[in-house]
Amino acid sequence: MSTSGTARDAVVIGAGFAGMYALKRLRDDLALDVVVVEAGDDVGGTWYWNRYPGARCDAESIYYSYTFDPELDQEWTWSERYSAQPEILAYAQHVAARYDLRKDIRFGTTVTAATWDPASTTWTVHTSDGDVLACRYLVSAAGCLSAANLPDIAGLADFRGDVLHTGQWPHEPVDLIGRRVAVIGTGSSGIQVIPEIAKVAAHLTVLQRTPNFTVPARNRLHEPSDVADYKSRYPQIRSESWASPGGVAVAPPPGKAYDLTPEQREESMRERWAAGGSNFMWVFEDTMTDLEANAVAAEFVRDRIRETVRDPEVAERLCPTSHPIGSKRICTDTDYYETFNRENVTLVDVRTTPIRRITQDGVLVGDTEVPADVIVFATGYDAMTGPLSRIDVRGVDGLSLRDKWSSGARAYLGIAVAGFPNLFTLTGPGSPSVLANVIASIEQHVDWLVDYLRTLDEGGIAATEADQAAEEEWAKRVDALAHETVYPQADSWYLGANIEGKPRQFLPYCAGIPSFREICDSVAADGYRGFVHSPAR
Ligand code: NAP
Repeated sequence: MSTSGTARDAVVIGAGFAGMYALKRLRDDLALDVVVVEAGDDVGGTWYWNRYPGARCDAESIYYSYTFDPELDQEWTWSERYSAQPEILAYAQHVAARYDLRKDIRFGTTVTAATWDPASTTWTVHTSDGDVLACRYLVSAAGCLSAANLPDIAGLADFRGDVLHTGQWPHEPVDLIGRRVAVIGTGSSGIQVIPEIAKVAAHLTVLQRTPNFTVPARNRLHEPSDVADYKSRYPQIRSESWASPGGVAVAPPPGKAYDLTPEQREESMRERWAAGGSNFMWVFEDTMTDLEANAVAAEFVRDRIRETVRDPEVAERLCPTSHPIGSKRICTDTDYYETFNRENVTLVDVRTTPIRRITQDGVLVGDTEVPADVIVFATGYDAMTGPLSRIDVRGVDGLSLRDKWSSGARAYLGIAVAGFPNLFTLTGPGSPSVLANVIASIEQHVDWLVDYLRTLDEGGIAATEADQAAEEEWAKRVDALAHETVYPQADSWYLGANIEGKPRQFLPYCAGIPSFREICDSVAADGYRGFVHSPAR
């Protein structure tokens, strides 16, 4: 098989926030010859695909943005506290134009397969347009939440209405006005889309399997004075967020729950609830590490649900009781619970009475058909491993990454995989990625990789891969850290529990970006401990 042209230095998979930053740094700072292969017709990744009504980030925009260029900070204006998808996409597009990234991105193309060739120490990369590219480094920026999960529910093909997934929302306007809509799923996506659909649908039926905890976002437009204020404080905002575990500056919690008086606990929860957003999880120092502390915060939220939802039965059905608060990703919303006071909204519990099948005209729940013109799947993703496992990646001796990860995802420092030389998995399993501000996670991983590639080049090293023992040790460490928290007590996508047959394993590194960065830097300072290097022939 012939490859098009000589081997490039790097192929990057995906032109979301990770792929764009990787391209910029590899091309502009290391002078590498890089091509990015992107499935969408433009940059933006998650923000290109997730166009559903209500889509906005649950991290405030002044944090959910690149930190690498103070001039970019000053020239871009975030119009809202939590900017909506179109503005985040416009920001990605602005970044692409500002740093001239598009010329090195192939849009509308997916990577279908990649094979390591030990003789030439290159990857051979196959793309959906039939092209074959050769490269020294294969950098996956395929994202953590980009492989949509459409559950295999019997009868779906028979449905005569429209089927939508929040993560693959059509680019043309979707008319939901006056239609009967069924939404399956009440995670972050469902909780955002439900209030918006309720405003226009003739009737909305929410099919809820597990109620989730959500905190009001308290989104608001930025006044000119807010803009002037945050722009003047960017250096401080950036340094505080880099020092914080979540990559977002947060007011320190007042203490451990049971070191506080009941009045102090209540005050902390009321203050953070009023401020809005996922920083609610910092009501106590030990919300995520002590079940009793967690239960106090969880009950506070349940009380807010009971206070908001007028029908007591509906309120109880919306109260999460099966998992600690925060053990599934905490959601943020605008008027989620209020939506269930509307006449045109029905909540159906599909845990006690499961979905049996989809019919021509709706969804059969037990023996009752929920009539629908549109079914919206807000059913999430095959997270963290799905995007790369969907590509046929073959390493040493034809080893398949999909097969390797089928018994447990392994990636040393979340970025390198034993048996897959010169493959780098940005925000991969075992890195803070989705458990922190993902843009900060991306920048840390890319910056570290750039230093590493420079070292490899200077040392005349042709190939590197994770040492098997170091990789195994890292997976154990990531798992042990998770077990110091309440995270493992929920059937969450963090654990792969939402995908049938996926091994149950806590995927992200949960101790935060500063400690992760320290480990990565100490590995580098120690001559890249845990990596196996092959010198150039
Ligand atoms: P998700 O959190 O995995 O939620 C999927 C929902 O679909 C759950 O309620 C799940 O129920 C339900 N579900 C799945 N399969 C089902 C089936 N066969 N029958 C009935 N219900 C089913 O997915 P997501 O809401 O798309 O969010 C994924 C992640 O993306 C978030 O956690 C967040 O990190 C990110 N996200 C962020 C934002 C934001 O920044 N605001 C917005 C959207 C997404 P069970 O819980 O019972 O499995």
